[in-house]
Amino acid sequence: MNSQTYRFKLGSFQCIAVSDGTHAYAPPTFPPPAILLFANAPRESLKQVLREHNLQLEQWSEWVSPYICLVIDTGEHEVLVDTGADGLGSNTGKLLRNLKSEGIEAEDIDTVILTHGHLDHIGGNTDSEGKPSFPNARYIMWRREWDFWNSEEAALKLEEHVREVLLGYARKNLPPIQGQLDLLDRETEILPGIQTIAAPGHTPGHIALAVCSGGQQLLCVSDVVLHPIHVERPEWYAAVDFDPQQVEATRRRILTKAATEKALVFAFHFPFPGLGRVVQKGDEWQWQPDEKMS
Ligand SMILES: [Zn+2]
Repeated sequence: MNSQTYRFKLGSFQCIAVSDGTHAYAPPTFPPPAILLFANAPRESLKQVLREHNLQLEQWSEWVSPYICLVIDTGEHEVLVDTGADGLGSNTGKLLRNLKSEGIEAEDIDTVILTHGHLDHIGGNTDSEGKPSFPNARYIMWRREWDFWNSEEAALKLEEHVREVLLGYARKNLPPIQGQLDLLDRETEILPGIQTIAAPGHTPGHIALAVCSGGQQLLCVSDVVLHPIHVERPEWYAAVDFDPQQVEATRRRILTKAATEKALVFAFHFPFPGLGRVVQKGDEWQWQPDEKMS
């Protein structure tokens, strides 16, 4: 599917998956995809699982990852989840243009929820002059996440090869939103039908969202999983995951919820439009892209 936007309904909510573009992760800037995404996977099992996904370990030289933001129009509120990676290569930063193509201006957005502080999720917070891109929005973030990126902690704990680029984006895109910011200390219903779920691990204050309307549920998992193989192998963490042990525990909790509650799932880095279900298969889970969309 090449389309940049995808509309779907959730009860009485109108939702749109909006592409910000894609980014190719490859050496020398990043480790090879298999190591970037599955840092601790035993080679033989990884080979086998990749083959089931039509990938050859030795030939997999770059991971072209979609960046997909989400618009939720609740009828009362126009909500945007994450702002993309404006500035990271020529294939990103398409969020505003794609919103416009759906008749949405930046001024229309009244709530911006930031799932975490990585550059691909906050990069569109501000414009080229460093002002908030969504002037009428309140921005929402988990307090622990905000504190991490706005203290010495990030500089001390991030791996050297990603430190400067991550901190650069944080410095450009976080301080300017301070006047429009609400920080969360606990799981909260941000707006009627939009509930935060603590989902730490990928970053210290990463959050997921449960969006509910008309008896339907959408779980916005953001970077709890980066690739459909993480649904099958929640113990295989990514090199960019901050706390691997916490990542696995969070994944198991969120995937259990997704499978048992038969929720529609939206994953930021999955093939566009990032929608599908988590199905239980014996002791394991599997990702099933929403069939209307594949
Ligand atoms: Zn991400």
